[in-house]
Amino acid sequence: MSGQPTALVSRILTFSCVDGPGNRLVIFLQGCNFDCITCHNPHTINHCSHCGDCVPECPSDALSLQNGKVVWHPERCTHCDRCLDVCPHKSNPKITRYSLDEMLDVVRKHHLFLSGITFSGGEATLQLPFITKLFKAVKADPALSHLTCFIDSNGSLSETGWQRVMPVLDGAMIDLKAWQNDTHRWLVGRDKHRVMATIRLLAEHGKLHEVRLLHIPGKSDLDTEVEAVGEFLNTLPESVNIRLNAFQHHGVVGEALAWKKCSEADMLRFHNALFEQTQRPMQLPTVYT
Ligand code: SF4
Ligand code: SF4
Repeated sequence: MSGQPTALVSRILTFSCVDGPGNRLVIFLQGCNFDCITCHNPHTINHCSHCGDCVPECPSDALSLQNGKVVWHPERCTHCDRCLDVCPHKSNPKITRYSLDEMLDVVRKHHLFLSGITFSGGEATLQLPFITKLFKAVKADPALSHLTCFIDSNGSLSETGWQRVMPVLDGAMIDLKAWQNDTHRWLVGRDKHRVMATIRLLAEHGKLHEVRLLHIPGKSDLDTEVEAVGEFLNTLPESVNIRLNAFQHHGVVGEALAWKKCSEADMLRFHNALFEQTQRPMQLPTVYT
């Protein structure tokens, strides 16, 4: 086990049917290089600074400070999420470090019920060496080789990084949150050039499973720039899913809580305008809160 890469994991879902094709094991990695105003999991953005602010807030005595570090005691945790609510650093004290062998044990335990594995986040590709090694190990094991290997990403990884994981990657889902660079910078804190380059690169290599467009009425510009967005989507292979996501308030903190949620009518207007440009099927949200 020594010398193996490890990963900082905020959550593992042993069954999901919305994070890629089929039934998937989803591994959420801690840490993100975007700082989206509309993030619905803001406690996945930063690594814990061990400030200790959440420790006295835990009603179950499931957190303690030991040698200046916050320690989580999962056996006492009731998952009330009070610690996430009080953390001033958009972080989470309930992080588990997994070695490659430990994560492979999780995969082996569930593999009979799975179509594949998806790494999500945070931004999963910030822990790329771990992901690449795990995918390699899965592909090399005859008992696991039926599992497809996917990444759910904000698209910020460099071409060099994607080229490293590409041989063991079956598909990726990439978010596109705005069209104009200024709007993108304002919404997520980073330029959109890398995201566009990622979408093009993965499409070129047949590894782009899905592009996700977030509609935030009156704030994002995907609807006001619908012609350009449609033109871009038309350059992608027909096999690429286009998923439209509706901005909702669940999990959101800060100024975006005062923004109008995307209603079904807002979404249908956006969908119809985009469909006029692309004539391609798009997945719509099933639930609006
Ligand atoms: S979720 Fe956080 S605050 Fe709640 S019991 Fe677990 S550690 Fe404590
Ligand atoms: S999770 Fe947040 S509040 Fe708790 S110790 Fe870490 S940084 Fe501080």
